[in-house]
Amino acid sequence: MEECIFCKIANSEIPAKIIAESEKSTAFLDVNPLSKGHTLVVPKSHAETVLDLSEEDWCDMNRLVKDVVARIYDRLSPDGFNIGINMHKAGGQAVEHIHIHIIPRWQGDGGGSVHTIVHNPPQESLEEIHAQLS
Ligand code: AMP
Ligand code: ZN
Repeated sequence: MEECIFCKIANSEIPAKIIAESEKSTAFLDVNPLSKGHTLVVPKSHAETVLDLSEEDWCDMNRLVKDVVARIYDRLSPDGFNIGINMHKAGGQAVEHIHIHIIPRWQGDGGGSVHTIVHNPPQESLEEIHAQLS
C-alpha cells in the first residue's frame, strides 16, 4: 500500500528504529513509547487485520514477537509485559496495518492490565454466548 506508514518502514522507505527482522516481519520501536522498549511487530506485506493475513505471515509475526520479548527481557529486565493488537477503530486501531504491541512493564509503573481496557459486560448469559460461538 503506497501511503501506508508501516509498509514504508518495512520497505526502508522511511526511517525507524528497527531492532529485529525476520523473512516476513519487522520489529521497530514505537515512536511514542508507552514504556521503555515499547516495540511494534508488523508483517512486511500489507494487511489491515489478522483476518487479512496469511497463516504463514501470522506465524512469522508471532515467532518474531517471541524473539523480541526474550531480547527485551534479557537486556532491559522488565518485570512483565502486555502484548496485544488494537483491531479496527472500535478496538483503538489508528494505523491500518496490523501491528502487535510489545509493552514492557515494571512493578509499580502505574499501568493497568488487559482488564482495564473496557468494562462492557454482556446482557446475555454465558450459556447463550457459548451456544453462539461453539
Ligand atoms: P494503534 O493505535 O494500535 O494503531 O497504534 C499505532 C502505534 O503506532 C502508536 O503507538 C504510534 O505511536 C505508533 N506509530 C505511529 N507512527 C509511527 C512511526 N512512524 N514509527 C513508529 N511508531 C509509530
Ligand atoms: Zn501497510
